[in-house]
Amino acid sequence: MTKRIFKAEGLVLRTRVLGEADRLVTLLTFEEGKFEAVARGARKIKSKLAAGVDLFTYGHYTFHRGRTWPIITGQEPLERFVWFREDPELYPYGLYLAELTDRLIIGEEPCVAVCQLLLDGWRMLGQGVDRFLLCRTFELKLAHYTGYSPYFDLCISCGSENTQGFSPREGGLLCQKCQVPDVLKLDAGTLALARRLLKTPLSQVRMIRPSTLQKEELAQLNNAFLAYHLDLGELKSRRLLGEN
Ligand SMILES: [Zn+2]
Repeated sequence: MTKRIFKAEGLVLRTRVLGEADRLVTLLTFEEGKFEAVARGARKIKSKLAAGVDLFTYGHYTFHRGRTWPIITGQEPLERFVWFREDPELYPYGLYLAELTDRLIIGEEPCVAVCQLLLDGWRMLGQGVDRFLLCRTFELKLAHYTGYSPYFDLCISCGSENTQGFSPREGGLLCQKCQVPDVLKLDAGTLALARRLLKTPLSQVRMIRPSTLQKEELAQLNNAFLAYHLDLGELKSRRLLGEN
């Protein structure tokens, strides 16, 4: 980011109050990755900027490089995910995808795959998919794109095929010889499901019908490896979903 004026296409992950009338907006953009920008006057009733900088908005934005943060000088919303505002049950799911993305993406590197993942996730939540399975798939894929991908094939330590369980600390399966105390024992069906979800496009999640046991174990698995990388208790959405 070196030009004084630049454009980017992206999604609003978070907004915060800044001063009397402004908002500080966290954007995840295809071109510039994640960064914060100021929406001047966005809290005024007549603000033209306000609608385009709400959480759950996808749009084109123009920025002027400011002293501390870039300043949003133009916006054109492409999609507003209004169902998260209209449906109180759906809201924490949309927020969860945003919060998780915000925590796992760090710098300003372009992150096209993650932008597309979040866009697909927000769209699909409004289309009546299995919310549980969509969130678990999103977690696995986001971990994959951000370099925290769990490894589900062979023992991550020695390459043995005879794996005994998953270690959140190692981020993969371990055999009996390499086992550590924190290992999580999982059904072969759950591991097959996790492998499949990592590879399946989010749009095809609706074709997958896991058993109750597989769903329970998948939640355990994802919680364990995510908790190793971030404090899930800090996420407001997890509290709203009753998952902490
Ligand atoms: Zn081993």
